[in-house]
Amino acid sequence: MVRVLRSTPTHALNAVSSVLLPSPCRLCGEPLAELSAAPVCSTCWNQLHPQSGALCPRCGENLGAESNDTASLCRICRLAEPPFARAVAYGLYQDHLRSLIQLLKYSRVEPVAVPLGELLATCVLAIPDLPSSLLVVPVPLHRSRRRTRGFNQSELLANALARALRRVQPQIRLQLAPGALSRSRATESQAGLTPRQRRDNLRGAFLVSGKQAQSQIKGRHILLVDDIYTTGATARACSKALIRAGAATVHAATVARAQRYEALLPQPLAAATENFTAPAIAAELPMHEDVAFWRSNTTLNQ
Ligand SMILES: [Zn+2]
Ligand SMILES: [Zn+2]
Repeated sequence: MVRVLRSTPTHALNAVSSVLLPSPCRLCGEPLAELSAAPVCSTCWNQLHPQSGALCPRCGENLGAESNDTASLCRICRLAEPPFARAVAYGLYQDHLRSLIQLLKYSRVEPVAVPLGELLATCVLAIPDLPSSLLVVPVPLHRSRRRTRGFNQSELLANALARALRRVQPQIRLQLAPGALSRSRATESQAGLTPRQRRDNLRGAFLVSGKQAQSQIKGRHILLVDDIYTTGATARACSKALIRAGAATVHAATVARAQRYEALLPQPLAAATENFTAPAIAAELPMHEDVAFWRSNTTLNQ
């Protein structure tokens, strides 16, 4: 054995050590102290923060500038009541949480889904009056997108979430139903679309198709799982399809959510911004698909 190692060329030893030694943290570059399936150091994980402040009790939007009253709904929910009972998100889509989701989704570091699912479990368990029996349904990708990416990140998160919930709260009856909801057409990428175009783009895109899926959904309390909640267009479209198929309730859980720009402004400035942008309602700003902030100077016509 010793003789073999002595005669082993350096590049071969490097190859061996890269397998045996932990790689650097994919977020900060520091060497990982231990081998880990998700290549992110504990310092980076510890920098994640759950959403805080007064949140809309229906969609989880930060009410910041709008109200300190946690009983009042945000402007979007007042304009158009969401079809879901409640949407929750672990944290804001920024900093390390954003990088982690991108690592999962675009760099295909699938093991990152496990700790993200555990974070998601903490905010699901904080839902008041959480039904004791839940059917966990990931937001589907169209099969062409799934083929390109090789996996559905929402499905990985749903699996990890269900495992974490079973461990922490075994009395909740959970069933995974990854095929219950399907995407009827390959929607255009949401990139560059305005909030209204995003809703139109998704109209009729989700459905519960087939007798098996319909009987799975009927009368059940659904836990809908996705990676990011941006304008809520996806959560609304999926919830509508599930309710139409006979679901009793839908709760939506996402790892992160984008922040509505106006909610971050102090009250007088927010009001001024709303007045200033009111004439431009028809000319909503196009949005990149991957946004941390968005403007809601629009009415909802769901
Ligand atoms: Zn790190
Ligand atoms: Zn709301």
